Amino acid sequence: MELYENTASGLHRLFIEKKASAVEIAEAHLARIEAVDGRVGAFLTVTKEEALAQAAALDEKRTAGEPLGALAGVPVAVKDNICTKDVRTTCASKILYNFKPPYNATVADKLRQAGAVTVGKTNMDEFAMGSSCETSHFQKTHNPRDLERVPGGSSGGSAAAVAAGEAPLALGSDTGGSIRQPAALCGVVGLKPTYGAVSRYGLVAFASSLDQIGPFARTVDDAALLFDAIKGRDTRDATSAHREQPPVAGTLDGNVKGLRIGIPQAYYGEGVDDAVKAKVLDTARALERAGAKLVDVSLSSTKYALPTYYILACAEASSNLARFDGVKYGYRTEHYDDLLSLYENSRSEGFGDEVKRRIMLGTFVLSSGYYDAYYHKAKLTQNLIRGEYDAAFRDCDAVLTPTSPVTAFKIGERTADPLQMYAADICTVPINIAGLPAVSLPCGEVDSLPVGLQLIGRKFEERIILNAAKAVEQICGVCAPAAL
Ligand code: GLN
Repeated sequence: MELYENTASGLHRLFIEKKASAVEIAEAHLARIEAVDGRVGAFLTVTKEEALAQAAALDEKRTAGEPLGALAGVPVAVKDNICTKDVRTTCASKILYNFKPPYNATVADKLRQAGAVTVGKTNMDEFAMGSSCETSHFQKTHNPRDLERVPGGSSGGSAAAVAAGEAPLALGSDTGGSIRQPAALCGVVGLKPTYGAVSRYGLVAFASSLDQIGPFARTVDDAALLFDAIKGRDTRDATSAHREQPPVAGTLDGNVKGLRIGIPQAYYGEGVDDAVKAKVLDTARALERAGAKLVDVSLSSTKYALPTYYILACAEASSNLARFDGVKYGYRTEHYDDLLSLYENSRSEGFGDEVKRRIMLGTFVLSSGYYDAYYHKAKLTQNLIRGEYDAAFRDCDAVLTPTSPVTAFKIGERTADPLQMYAADICTVPINIAGLPAVSLPCGEVDSLPVGLQLIGRKFEERIILNAAKAVEQICGVCAPAAL
């Protein structure tokens, strides 16, 4: 077996047991990136020198017998909207094409503390707005399972990097599905943690009340390992939760005896591909045979989730993106004669079409004449959706749905119609609206393309959904890197 085919926990063990050095592990993954990324396009920046220096420092620590973190020696890829000190962080936008943050996001610091080796920054939809990676200003990312298809989005680069064996772990961010949907389309594991479980400090904000950082991996145990490394209270993020979050890694056995799994009809209706539905429900029945109890739950407000999400997310984005003005950092137009034209032209030239569409929509729904009709109503609907989840979780311990209504679509197939692109998020946005944790993992294939199954849990009950995910993994098998 090649080094790059190992899981994160496998690589960590090889390092600890002195069967491989951190430099050898880093070199193997950098070589894999070199060999396949010309075709996959997962990375915007490969930090080869930094990675080798970090790895060499770990090897020295190991020789000196110093304590080593839980991810020591393990390569990790990081989405390009997570600030990394002195390393270009672009959000895949022209407006930040040259931005090198003077500080690390909390999660980037935590990766270093855990001994992970950062191999690079991954492609995404511009400012995390999209479901296919096609709104990136710089490049398209190709799905490693079928290079003519999209990897999903917005964290498509991170999902593709893990699926291609370029890194065993990656960080993404999820505002309406951007970890889970690309995980589903690329056939890997992706976890969106509970809102507040992981610090957002240093994550370039899209919709602050919905954004969460989370892990990608090829196994459920690896996802738990990375989740443990990044979670926890952070005084630099006012929305970070004040609570103990016990470790999840090492506690998962996949035992689902007596677990009540909710099946909501609303997630299996119109717009969801029949073959996808069938795969997900087959897996649910296999869980039942393993001892879980399937129960019907009603989540009928799900039909309002998509419009609610696009109102709330655009409103917050219009405010968050006001900071990109060509003055303090990033792209500045060459065509201006006063402050206003500097702002106008820097933003007109720096932002792509999807970002502009959302800024305009968001500004509209917040404007004084329309605030009550749109924004206020969306906040009320958010309460309705949250209340329904609270009620559902009285009858069940986890909710099981498809992650994406379809398998990976062809590059270019949906770019002409934004509404068709938004429909890709139909099964994932309600979870951000409710602030809940959810994991996506593969549960088989339709026409040789992976199908993603989503498990949704109560707040801070990541362990329960990851344990159920482990049961799914035992039934459906562990994902391997794509043959490229
Ligand atoms: N695809 C969704 C959107 O375009 C979700 C994005 C995300 O989670 N960052 O807004």
